[in-house]
Amino acid sequence: MCQPPSSPVVCDTTDVGRRLLILTVAAGLTACTAPSEGGAGPPRPVTAAGPAAVLAQTMPEPITPAPAPAVEPPKPAVAAVLSAGGIAMPVLGRDGDAWKVSTPCGREAVVTSATPLPTRPVVLDPGHGGYDPGAVGPNGLEEADLNLAVSRHAAAALEAAGFPTVLTRNGDHGMNLPNRAKLAVGLQARAFVSVHHNAASWAPSAIPGSEMYHQVSSAESKRLAGLIYEEIVAALSPYDVAWVTSGVGVTWRTKANGDDWYAMVNQPRGIDAALAELAFISNPTEADLLADPDVQRVEGQAVARGIIRFLTTSEPGSGYVEGGQMPPRPRCGGGSRGGGGGEDPCDDPAL
Ligand SMILES: [Zn+2]
Repeated sequence: MCQPPSSPVVCDTTDVGRRLLILTVAAGLTACTAPSEGGAGPPRPVTAAGPAAVLAQTMPEPITPAPAPAVEPPKPAVAAVLSAGGIAMPVLGRDGDAWKVSTPCGREAVVTSATPLPTRPVVLDPGHGGYDPGAVGPNGLEEADLNLAVSRHAAAALEAAGFPTVLTRNGDHGMNLPNRAKLAVGLQARAFVSVHHNAASWAPSAIPGSEMYHQVSSAESKRLAGLIYEEIVAALSPYDVAWVTSGVGVTWRTKANGDDWYAMVNQPRGIDAALAELAFISNPTEADLLADPDVQRVEGQAVARGIIRFLTTSEPGSGYVEGGQMPPRPRCGGGSRGGGGGEDPCDDPAL
C-alpha cells in the first residue's frame, strides 16, 4: 500500500499495490515510487515528468492471472452413507453437496444430510423386512423382526470388541438383495453375514439344526461359516428344546453354471460371505425360545464371536458336510405383506 507523500515513500510489491499506485497516479497525485526489482534498494523518486512517465516507470509487465486453484480438495471416494434417518445406502454420485444414493429398495434418491460410512467394516444383513416378513413361526414371530434383533445384538458385540459394523437394514422396511450386496462390496466388508432363521426342517435332532452356506470357491468364506456354526450350536445347545434339523450343517449350493445359488453368498463378489440359518423358526418349541429377548442376545453374541474368531485367528471352524451340494428345496422366507398388481412391493423407509 502506498503511503501519503509526506511519509517515507514505500510501496508494496503486490499486484494490489501496483493497481492502487496506478489509480493514484491517474488521479493526478504524485508521490509513490516503484520498488526496484525484487523490492530491495532505496525507492527511486518520481520526477515531474507527468502522469504518463510515472505510469511508464511503475507499470509492471502485464500480468495474466494464473487460473485459480481448485477451492475444494478432492473428495475421498465414499461408497456408502448413513442418512439422517439411519438408513445405510450405496452412493451413486454427488449432486452439489448432496448425495445421490440407491434406496434400500434400489430406487434413486438424493439426500442432503448423510454421514459417510467407514470402509472395511463387518457388514451384517438382517434378512427380509417390511413387505417381506420372511418365515413366520407358529407363535406369530416374524423372521424379519427376529433377524434384526439378533443382528443388532451381534453388531453391538462386534462394536464393543472394536470391530466397526454396518447393518444393511436397521428398521422394518423392505430391501432388495442387490442393495444388500452393494453395501458389502462398496464398503469392502471384512466379512458379510446374512442373518436368517429357517423353515422346512426334515427330522428331530439332538443338537440345534443350525445351517450355514458359504461361497463354494472361497476357503475363507467356508471358514467364516464354520466358525459361526461352532459358536451358534454351542450357544443354543444348553437350552432344553426339541430341536429339528435339515441335515445340512455347513455347506454350499451352486447353480448349474457353478455360481453360488444364494444371492447373499453369490452377489457380494470378492467379499468373504456366509448365509446363516441360525435355528428353525418353523419349529414350535424353537419359535417360543427365539421369541425370548435373552435368547436373541445369546444368538447375536454367538454370531459376533464367530466373526471375531474369523478375523483374529486361523481356526478352521467345523460342521462341514462333505459333498456339499444340497438338492433344491424350500428355504426360509417367501412371505409377503403387500405387493400384487405387478407393482414393486418393496417399501422404502423414510430417508
Ligand atoms: Zn430368511
